[in-house]
Amino acid sequence: MTPLAEFITALHGVASGEGEVITDPVRLRTYECDGLTYHRATPGVVVLAESAAQIAAIVKLCNRYGVPFVARGSGTGLSGGALPRTDGVLIVTSKMRRVLEIDLPNRRAVVEPGVTNLAITEAVREQGYYYAPDPSSQQICSIGGNVAENSGGAHCLKYGFTVNHVEACEIVTPDGDIVILDRMDPGYDLLGAFVGSEGTLGIATKVTVRLSRTPEAVTTVLAAFESIEQGGRAVSAIIGAGIVPAAIEMMDALSIEAAEAAVACAYPEGAGAVLIVELDGPAEAVERQFAQLTEICAQAFELRVAADPAERAAIWKGRKSAFAAVGRISPAYIVQDGVVPRTSLPAVLASIDRLSAEYGIKVANVFHAGDGNLHPLVLFDDAEPGAGERAETVSGKILDLCVENGGSITGEHGVGVDKSRYMPRMFSDDDLDTMQLVRCAFDPGNLSNPGKVFPTPRLCGEVPGVRKGVHPLVESGKAEQF
Ligand SMILES: Cc1cc2nc3c(=O)[nH]c(=O)nc-3n(C[C@H](O)[C@H](O)[C@H](O)COP(=O)(O)OP(=O)(O)OC[C@H]3O[C@@H](n4cnc5c(N)ncnc54)[C@H](O)[C@@H]3O)c2cc1C
Repeated sequence: MTPLAEFITALHGVASGEGEVITDPVRLRTYECDGLTYHRATPGVVVLAESAAQIAAIVKLCNRYGVPFVARGSGTGLSGGALPRTDGVLIVTSKMRRVLEIDLPNRRAVVEPGVTNLAITEAVREQGYYYAPDPSSQQICSIGGNVAENSGGAHCLKYGFTVNHVEACEIVTPDGDIVILDRMDPGYDLLGAFVGSEGTLGIATKVTVRLSRTPEAVTTVLAAFESIEQGGRAVSAIIGAGIVPAAIEMMDALSIEAAEAAVACAYPEGAGAVLIVELDGPAEAVERQFAQLTEICAQAFELRVAADPAERAAIWKGRKSAFAAVGRISPAYIVQDGVVPRTSLPAVLASIDRLSAEYGIKVANVFHAGDGNLHPLVLFDDAEPGAGERAETVSGKILDLCVENGGSITGEHGVGVDKSRYMPRMFSDDDLDTMQLVRCAFDPGNLSNPGKVFPTPRLCGEVPGVRKGVHPLVESGKAEQF
């Protein structure tokens, strides 16, 4: 019997509920990829977990049989983070969707990891609260996935990312213990290390999130410009004027065309770019900022202000559906995610245009303009020989541009399996080895989502990549190799 087969036999002892353990090859294929469908692997076995105690028992079994495990929430990740292992178990949290506690006086809610992002807001909306980070996938993505990816969203410009809204996490460590990481704990910020660790430091089984007060006033504005340069200049001017909108999103002509085809969002015709700017806060401040905004956006050929929540939703509809909408104008596409300093936006967008022309590959741009987080959608026809490779080249060169301009290879979608090869473009070998020491401290057996984030496994007894021999940190006595 293989270790996996022995493991599956033992697994039935800890997860025996109806439909909990999936081994049927057809059902397993449901879980073979996340939102990045390019990378696929059929999991060895899937468990639809029901409790922290059960996950702890499964992880202990993984340790006994040397079987790797991967956590999965809703599978909307865009970097292949939840890509399963053929020799491992995929632990799915989608059945763990209870809101366990709402504590309004302390502005906190405690939820299970499978609860969707939007469900948290829905649970407290009537009382005048909401959960601020809002990925465009918020109707379906899980809070466990948000924690693992440190997810962002349109409103993170003003309110910060997931890391700023998580107070504590109960986790199952890679050796199967249940521990609590709390923001208030003295010593190292282990909760900070866990948020954004992409499932490599254990599995979140309970999350305490911070709730925010619904702002007194919200004004949503759609500004249409003839060109993306004009839109870009308006973004710099808004921030330069000291206004911090809740959101500033930009879409170029191609992404507007896609959104129009998919959801008929009725954005102004002929726009080279639209900006969605949302101002929120005390009514008086919003009114003052709106007056400033109107002056700054003088070059816009149309300025549309949402008169009520329905019009606000209509303005957001085009933006929130933009990724999926691109499917209407292209048979295949890559969703890229990179960051540049805001001031580099015009130059980087111009370079993307040049790449697009050079390789004959169209690129639609949708981005969180306020924080310089680009989402170029690289379009190609997968039936055309060589088109996929050219799209992949353009996609990689866009990340080079981001790094060259002082930015990053990911803003919010994570590294996962897809971008691990780009990590050396930002980090030296020593940087990467040092990061792996953190991973090894949590997961010496390298069982928790192995093969993700890092380009070459090198420490914790992993098979050496480029480096041969003893790592310098180990040699100098600063670190231990397990
Ligand atoms: C249309 C669309 C729009 C999107 N828009 C945004 C956006 O605006 N902003 C943004 O940041 N992202 C966005 N995303 C990406 C994605 O939705 C987020 O990364 C989200 O947080 C993933 O959540 P999930 O539950 O689907 O996680 P999964 O895809 O299931 O997993 C993602 C990662 O988290 C790990 N993981 C999952 N659950 C746990 C757990 N309980 N404990 C530890 N690790 C765990 C997995 O191992 C994996 O590494 C978008 C995706 C799509 C498809």
